[in-house]
Amino acid sequence: RNLNDGGAFDWDDARRDCDALLARARFGLHLTRAWTVMLVGEPNVGKSSLLNRIAGFERAIVHHEPGTTRDLVAVSCAVEGWPMRLIDSAGIRESLEPVESLGIARALAESRNVDLVVHLRDFSQPASPEEERLAELCPGAIRIAHKSDLPRHSSRADDVESFSVSSTSGAGVDELLRRLVQRLVPETPPPDAVFPINERQVACLDELLAALQGRDVPRTRRGYERLLRGERVTGD
Ligand code: GDP
Repeated sequence: RNLNDGGAFDWDDARRDCDALLARARFGLHLTRAWTVMLVGEPNVGKSSLLNRIAGFERAIVHHEPGTTRDLVAVSCAVEGWPMRLIDSAGIRESLEPVESLGIARALAESRNVDLVVHLRDFSQPASPEEERLAELCPGAIRIAHKSDLPRHSSRADDVESFSVSSTSGAGVDELLRRLVQRLVPETPPPDAVFPINERQVACLDELLAALQGRDVPRTRRGYERLLRGERVTGD
């Protein structure tokens, strides 16, 4: 782009290009960095059982993490080729009171480190206030009607929002993995698409976008230079 030729430079077009690149950042960054999925739910809802079931599931290629072989608190795996790390929120601070651990779940869900939350609910039991509170705290979570091998509690009969999973029988686990990928990677860019693949490139694009929005010529020039210099450094 010729920034020196002031009249010919199309600021709006450049901004659209930059926006399009940033819109694909989530996709590009996760080609190499695992998506983090956190399981939340009250004690005994079956978080650890589900994690173990996924660890033994043929569709998920699992890399056992050192120190987590007996009671898994985290599983690294690949689902449909996507690197994924599933963590049990209980494993983070087991000793805290339930209410406090709910707060931790929220804090983690809001932090940049958690991409998706899976909320487990034991449908063989009636809903508790804690369960409802957790549902409010994690509005974007995938909700599971867990322990589907047991009879549903009568108060749960009408729930259609959750889908059924049993860690005991394995029913619904395949569907859960499919839904995780669907939520994390709703669309794949076309093969010739360009996108940032590391945090540095995303930071450069953020800065460039601000410069383009302000139609600031020196800052825009610096923005492009930084981006291009970076490409040479990484050998792209
Ligand atoms: P956590 O505290 O949420 O990690 O729950 P656990 O995974 O330790 O499970 C608590 C209890 O529920 C254990 O006795 C499990 O065997 C049982 N459990 C877990 N998942 C299921 C399930 O899908 N069906 C049935 N029937 N029991 C389950």
